Order: sequence, then C-alpha cells, then structure tokens
Amino acid sequence: MFTSIEVHNRAKVFDRMIEDTHDALVDPDVVQALGGLTTDLLKINDEAFLPNIRHGVLTVPDEYKDTADVAIVPLNRRDMSKADVLTQPLFETNPLSWPADKTTSDVYGLDLTDEMRAALDNNEPIEKFREMRRFNFTRAATTGFVEQEDDGTFSGSRPVILAKAWEFKPGPKRYRAAMLAHEEVHVRDMLNDGPLLQLMEYRAATEGLAFHVGGVIAVPNPLAKFNTRRAYKIDKLRHELNDPDAPFTPTPAFVEALKAMRAI
Ligand SMILES: [Zn+2]
Repeated sequence: MFTSIEVHNRAKVFDRMIEDTHDALVDPDVVQALGGLTTDLLKINDEAFLPNIRHGVLTVPDEYKDTADVAIVPLNRRDMSKADVLTQPLFETNPLSWPADKTTSDVYGLDLTDEMRAALDNNEPIEKFREMRRFNFTRAATTGFVEQEDDGTFSGSRPVILAKAWEFKPGPKRYRAAMLAHEEVHVRDMLNDGPLLQLMEYRAATEGLAFHVGGVIAVPNPLAKFNTRRAYKIDKLRHELNDPDAPFTPTPAFVEALKAMRAI
C-alpha cells in the first residue's frame, strides 16, 4: 500500500517542518514578540513524532506510547479520502486527562458557558467530539478527542496535526514555520484546556492566538506564500475587537467576526 518512496517523502517533509519551525521559534525577533509562548511551542515542536506505517495505517512508535506527545502526519493527496481510517490508531488511547472541575482557562480568562455548566450539573455526558472534525482543511489541522468519563473527569487522545504534504514542500522556510506553529498553538491549548475546546469562545481564543503567532513568524519574509492576508485580517480584527487589557480573550464581537469568516 505504501512504497518506500512514500515513506521516505513523508519523513523528509516531517523533518523539514520541524527544523524550519524550530529555527523560527528560536529567532530572537520572534522570541521578543511572543515571549514565553515560544518555549511552550518549541517543546511541542521538538518532541513531536512521525507515526510509523504498519499494515496500511499509522501507528504510534513504542517509545511514544506512554506519552501525550503530538503526532504530525504529512498526508499525500491520495491519503486524503481515507485519512480517517489511516489515522484511526493514533486516537485509540487517551493519554490526556483533566479534572471534572476543569471549567476555566487561565490562559485566555474564559469560563464555561452556562449551558455547558448546566449539563455538567445535571451530570449529562458531554458529547464526544473531535476538534476540526473535517478532513477537508486547507493546509493543516489539529485534531483530537476529548470525552467525559463516568466520574465526571475528562480524558483525551493525543493531539494529532494533519498536514497536506504538498503544501509544506515548496516556498520559504517561514511559510512552513508559520503554518506549523499555528497548529502548535492549538496543540498547547488542547493539552492545557482540552474540554474547553467545545466552546465557541475558546475556539475563537485559540484561533486568535494561532493567527497572531503565524503572522509574527511570517512577517520577516514578505515573499512567503503563507495565507497572510487572511492571517493578518484575523489578527487585525482581534486587535480591534478585543479589550487591549486582555488582547487574547475573545469578546462576543470577535467570536461573531470569526464565525462570519468561517474561521471557527
Ligand atoms: Zn487554527
């Protein structure tokens, strides 16, 4: 099913994504603009792994089985129609967990909506969900499951970044780095605040920060083919619509703007 050339190409794309993003995240200008966030993203980036291919599906290498490290999956064009089946084994275990009272995000200053809180009060199970359920994403997407256990606590699969390999092959380094770092913001947020990803407000928060990070990384290279117009538009909206004292805490206006742009 997979030729050795395909395996080789996948590894090559993976290595390039990781290296280019590492270089961007240690760039003094990027560190200055993003502060301690670069440390979190660098850890996620440098600990990410490429899944093995076994019997036509992707599997977690033994040394990563007991970790929650992110899997990065460069997909080829012909993988796309069967991406669900191909990646299924990566989601089989739940290495992540959060307490039942995981209802606030200190990072973004967000709390559960009344609706979600009421569901928890009534002990109704939160529907198992997948961030970015679609496989028809533009370039890359962060996916993962979060579910509520019988005792009310939450558990989650490892985060998996799906990437269209052909979108990561051409262009300058910063093009790849901006795209991957954007997804790594979502990974960081899933690790910290997994259950909150069910909230529209939270999705707006993580997209706002992810587009900001992508924009900062893409800036030094005006030739980058990164979809900068959309990234900058979203970053500008965030700047205009959010409170300057809490620039990454989404206001209702910012949530509505992202909905209108189909960004969440
Ligand atoms: Zn995103």
